[in-house]
Amino acid sequence: MSLPEDLARAHRRFSVEFSPAHDEASATRQWATVERLARLRPVFASVTYGAGGGSREGTVELASRLAAETSLRPLAHLTAVGESADRLRGVVGDLLAGGVRDVLALRGDPDGDPHAPWTPHPEGLQHADELVRLALAEGASSVGVAAFPLGHPDSPDPDTDLRHLLGKFRAGASFAIAQLTFDVEDFLRLRDRLAAAGCQVPLVPGLLPVTSPRVLEVTRRLTDGHEPSWLYRRLDPFLDDRGAFREEGLRVAVEDGRRLLAEGVPLLHLYSLNQAANVEALVAELGLAG
Ligand code: FAD
Repeated sequence: MSLPEDLARAHRRFSVEFSPAHDEASATRQWATVERLARLRPVFASVTYGAGGGSREGTVELASRLAAETSLRPLAHLTAVGESADRLRGVVGDLLAGGVRDVLALRGDPDGDPHAPWTPHPEGLQHADELVRLALAEGASSVGVAAFPLGHPDSPDPDTDLRHLLGKFRAGASFAIAQLTFDVEDFLRLRDRLAAAGCQVPLVPGLLPVTSPRVLEVTRRLTDGHEPSWLYRRLDPFLDDRGAFREEGLRVAVEDGRRLLAEGVPLLHLYSLNQAANVEALVAELGLAG
């Protein structure tokens, strides 16, 4: 079955995100995480690209290993940052050769300073819709894209951003993963706006259990600084107690997950940060195992 077919059939399931490991020791630990989470049968396992310090080659390597050695369906992130169109075709070819058929097509952000103005490679791509077309033309089975519940920071307004998201679907994308948000209403509003535009493409919400002050920092990056003040108010009292902080962070994620499931969202995308325990706890609490 194809990934879009699996997404259409999903009911109370999850997917998981990994990032390429930086060194051999963390690669070994990561693989133990992969094996633990594979037992819970996520619908797909995404592998980030050039984000979080992981090397780009690392994405092809990890996604190919998932395809070859596990029952997981890898979804390889791919960005247009600093690459010519030819080189991007080569990366898609490498992924296909490694048995990775599904791609998340992203523009990416400028290397070094993600807030600097976007400048495409002189022989590269301007926007993610072009990468969607490129990946499909090279033979990817399915391509997903990023969606932004509050609008992408470069967009002048949410309507323009929605128009561009719809353009990515017209280019052939068959699903979208939403940027992390802790306000379920923001996600649901985007889902409603897509439906009102006549778009039935699956929109998958991200869920990150904020189980330590370090994860709170990651959150700030993943939400483009839109992490809500109520989250701080809930976690602040536990800054000096690691165990209590983790429990409260998990409670927040479970509450958000329950709300999304109650709203009919069929699949939650769980950020693992390459660790198994928090994902396992959420999957157990929310009943998401396959
Ligand atoms: P685009 O869709 O190209 O949009 C960028 C801006 O251009 C938006 O303002 C949009 O409205 C506008 N736009 C889009 N199309 C057009 C058009 N045709 N004409 C004019 N304007 C247009 N980054 C990484 O480096 N590695 C990762 O692995 C990674 N994974 C991610 C996973 C998810 C789920 C999400 C939400 C983001 C991820 N990112 C990753 C971050 C992402 O690369 C950045 O947020 C980037 O700034 C936007 O990428 P995009 O694909 O949405 O770009």
